[in-house]
Amino acid sequence: MIVSASRRTDIPAFFSKWFVERVKAGYFCVRNPFNPGQVKVYSLLPEDVDLIVFWTKNPQPLLPYLDLLDSLGYRYYFHFTLNDYPEILEPRVPPLSQRLDAFRKLSDRAGKERVIWRYDPIVLSSVTPSEYHLERVQNLAEHLTGYTDRLVISFLDFYGKVKRRLKRISQATGIEFYEPLAVGDEGKMSGGFCEDGMGAGACGQGGTTVGILCDRGTSAGIRDGTRTAPQVPADRSRSAGISGVKRAPVRAPGEVLKLAEGIRNMAESCGMEVYSCAETIDLRPAGIKPGACIDGNLIRKISGTDRAMPKDKGQRPACRCVESVDMGAYNTCSHQCAYCYANHSAASIEKNLGRHVPTSPLLVGTCDGQVEIIHDLKPSSLK
Ligand code: SF4
Repeated sequence: MIVSASRRTDIPAFFSKWFVERVKAGYFCVRNPFNPGQVKVYSLLPEDVDLIVFWTKNPQPLLPYLDLLDSLGYRYYFHFTLNDYPEILEPRVPPLSQRLDAFRKLSDRAGKERVIWRYDPIVLSSVTPSEYHLERVQNLAEHLTGYTDRLVISFLDFYGKVKRRLKRISQATGIEFYEPLAVGDEGKMSGGFCEDGMGAGACGQGGTTVGILCDRGTSAGIRDGTRTAPQVPADRSRSAGISGVKRAPVRAPGEVLKLAEGIRNMAESCGMEVYSCAETIDLRPAGIKPGACIDGNLIRKISGTDRAMPKDKGQRPACRCVESVDMGAYNTCSHQCAYCYANHSAASIEKNLGRHVPTSPLLVGTCDGQVEIIHDLKPSSLK
């Protein structure tokens, strides 16, 4: 069984102690997001877990426990999302300098092949245009040279709840957000928030089995610990309404591909291969191959096996991940990134965190009084 920890929240940053309690107990529980009365129980014993994939913007709290994981024989790798966004997009991540330090420490400890840098989602906006990303990626790649050999990128998907959240930011600040277009989508003349039917609607991403909730987690801030507020043009800051948003242009395929190619060139010059993540925009013309986050090839390499692993049918069609069991829970990540697919609102996060019990097998709440507990699940295994 591959354990995903987690696309739904940042376990290393906020729930490391809970995770270690589950390691010591040898099992964990997951509540069905669509049927809260149903809880599934999974073994977390080293002999039942092929590999753990951690997703984080801050692995620091987990670092002291890596010795324990190693001594018990767990295999793992990390997706480390490291962006350099204005505070309005990533309000609660640690300062960039701390995250860069954590990245380097983790890489020194786990090995660079087990730490994947994610620069995603790429948010195109009036304060983060293409030039912004090119400048930031160049800076980050230089700081991370020698500490990873893989960069994963993806562009923001305008799912319903993300769209609504960004719309509120637009109303408050005048910042415009742009929807990147794929080749063939040039006919969509209006992007951003103006057409309800645009984008993926409720949620085309993540657990396609999940419907209203999306499965992707990730990270970041500003340069060298100094956060900068986005510069809001005076005329826009007064507008407050959504008329500016309605007029917000999409970004043409040519610009999207040029940005992707620029990122690839920079990353390659720093010794990194660049892959896309479940990207509906075909980035191959920019020299970027589609990748897999729960990556069967990397898992086989780390595990020293050549066994085949089934594709995860619960993910979006464009996703190339193999099957895994996600141990996290939605609406629990305190990073509260503006573009997050896994959080609904600050209020729902607060409510769930109030129900977090570090010794419970569930991340939120306890198993007491559950309607249905399903034991002895047998997910696919390499063994
Ligand atoms: S708020 Fe969402 S995008 Fe940000 S770190 Fe948490 S799970 Fe990832």
